[in-house]
Formats: sequence, structure tokens, C-alpha cells
Amino acid sequence: MTRVLIVEDDPQIRRFLRLALESEGCTVQEAGRLDVGVAASRLGPDLVLLDLGLPDGDGLDFIKAYRVRSKAPVIILSARGQEPDKVAALDAGADDYLVKPFGMAELLARVRAQLRRQGAAGTTEAPLFCFGEVTVDLDRRSVSRAGNPVHLTPIEYRLLTFLITHAGRVLTHRQILREVWGPGHSEGGHTLRVYVGRLRHKLEADPAQPRYVLTETGVGYRMEI
Ligand code: CA
Repeated sequence: MTRVLIVEDDPQIRRFLRLALESEGCTVQEAGRLDVGVAASRLGPDLVLLDLGLPDGDGLDFIKAYRVRSKAPVIILSARGQEPDKVAALDAGADDYLVKPFGMAELLARVRAQLRRQGAAGTTEAPLFCFGEVTVDLDRRSVSRAGNPVHLTPIEYRLLTFLITHAGRVLTHRQILREVWGPGHSEGGHTLRVYVGRLRHKLEADPAQPRYVLTETGVGYRMEI
């Protein structure tokens, strides 16, 4: 049974979320305030739906405190739709971000994607990833497309493996630059675009209409596999 914690001060939205999640077989816990949410999060939910504007504080503070002790996915539900708000939440450790008003079908799809990702991370790490015609073997550090080897530079390979191992999650430019290029490279947005373009050319059937390495405009990238 999947346990979902909803931290949201609007009772109507909470009710709407509860009904939808329960119809998917989830157990739901509700908190209308930040302090109640923090207390409820100690029970170890499998996933958190988090509003940012709460009567007694900011949801960002919840994420920062929560990330210290849990890796369970956090999806932000917020009326704040500006790119800097999304970037701040994702950089703080949120896994996904939906701007209100959102469609329930989309929310449930995002919830399922996060739970799948979490489930996959918990089992024995599968070193083989396949998407489209591409196979990536992390054990052998090899990449092939339709059976033919694809040559990637060391940076391209690190970028690809970072995206793959965080598939389904929105990664900010800053997170990717820090992980792939190292600390001190957090301002290389242009470099990152160039490298993503190269990966798409090597791996996507139509690099102009990518299906796997997706752009989250103004925020970063998301790998869909
Ligand atoms: Ca609110």
C-alpha cells in the first residue's frame, strides 16, 4: 500500500487529491499546515505532495528539512508558476513540479512515474538501460544504437548516465552542471545546451523533436525512458 502525504492548506484541493489517490489504491494522510506536515512526514510516507504557500511557512523549508532524512519523492503543487520558483524547489530537492491549476490525470501520471522510479532504485540496480534503439550498459560503459556502437566523449557519457539514473525527474541546469562538470561549473548553461544537442544527435531518431532527452524550458532537462 502506497502512503501519500498531502501538505496543502486548501481543504477543497486536499479532498480532491485524497479521492483521486484513494481511487488509485493509495493511503492518504493530510496536513493543512507546515508544522503538521513536518510532524506527519516522520511516519515515512512513500511520496509527498507539497504546496509551497502554507499559512505557517514556506514549503521550501519543508523540502530542505525533509531531504536530510528521506529520499522519498516530493512533488510540488503550487500556484507559483515562474521559472525561478521551480528552480528553487527543484534545487532544494523536490522531484517534480506542477503548477496550479493542474489536471488530475497528469498529477496521477506524475505520481506513478515517481513511484516507479523509487521502486526501481530500491531493487538491485539494473545496469542495462534501453530506450528506442539505444542500449546503455553501465557495467561495460558501452552505448549502442540499433546494435552499432556509439562513441561518446567522457563528458557526454557522464551526462547521459546522470540523466538515465535520474530518469523521470526534472534536473535543473545547476544540478547537472555540478554533477557532470563538477563544483564551480554551475554557470555553464550554454555548454550544457551544446552537450545535450550532441547527445540528441547521437541517440535520438529526430534530434529536433527529442523523445528521450526532454527540455524543461528555463529549468533544465528530464530523461524519459
Ligand atoms: Ca496554499
